[in-house]
Amino acid sequence: MIEVSRLSKRYGGADAVRDVSFACAPGTVTGFLGPNGAGKSTTLRMICGLTPPTEGTATVHGVPYRRIPNPGRHVGVLLDAAAQHAGRTGREVLTLTALATGADRSRVGELLETVGLPAKAAGKRVGAYSLGMRQRLGLAQALVGEPSVLILDEPANGLDPEGIFWMRTLLRGFADRGGTVLLSSHLLREVEAVADRFVVIAGGRIAAQGTRDELLSGT
Ligand code: ADP
Ligand code: ADP
Repeated sequence: MIEVSRLSKRYGGADAVRDVSFACAPGTVTGFLGPNGAGKSTTLRMICGLTPPTEGTATVHGVPYRRIPNPGRHVGVLLDAAAQHAGRTGREVLTLTALATGADRSRVGELLETVGLPAKAAGKRVGAYSLGMRQRLGLAQALVGEPSVLILDEPANGLDPEGIFWMRTLLRGFADRGGTVLLSSHLLREVEAVADRFVVIAGGRIAAQGTRDELLSGT
């Protein structure tokens, strides 16, 4: 469960995010849609305790992210796959994430396979990865602590159509087993087939939210 209540973030005199409220329920995928610069990353960073809000609150399972004990065991986060440690191999990066979250290290090999980074790819330096491979590794990092909530910022960026289909299947399965997914994208086609609900943000404000049918009927 994710609950966002009247979140705002001001940088200088400008509102990056203004009065944003929404909730994501267990068992659902929420598509967080908006053009570049709309305020998606800022909102997700506030939910994850990385950017302090100017106003408002965000909680995960009823608690602000920063007060969750061992958050990696509850919330899987993928915010910027391009920022991964370039000098380490994918396997090293995921092993370090597993150690940091107290997750089961024996999951590392299997999880790398699951995200499409078999032994050969996992043994390469992340600096040599394509953006799509980094997204796959980032998703493995988000999943390694066996969280019940996933918060993913533009995870489809850099994935090819087959990769997008694969990620959609994985996220659908995660939600169908009771997980909560918040998934941002600037492209409707990346999220429309997987999301149960949509939150549309533009210019830092919520433009619309609801199911596909609700949005299409304008209610
Ligand atoms: P999105 O993720 O939807 O592309 P962002 O949340 O990254 O949008 O950005 C929303 C707005 O806030 C943009 O106008 C961006 O330039 C601004 N912004 C984001 N981060 C900062 C920052 N650290 N300092 C100043 N302005 C920022
Ligand atoms: P529970 O033990 O009650 O199933 P968890 O917190 O372990 O709760 O997980 C919540 C949901 O997320 C479960 O439905 C679980 O199957 C799913 N989940 C957890 N980790 C993964 C993963 N690595 N890949 C896919 N789904 C996962």
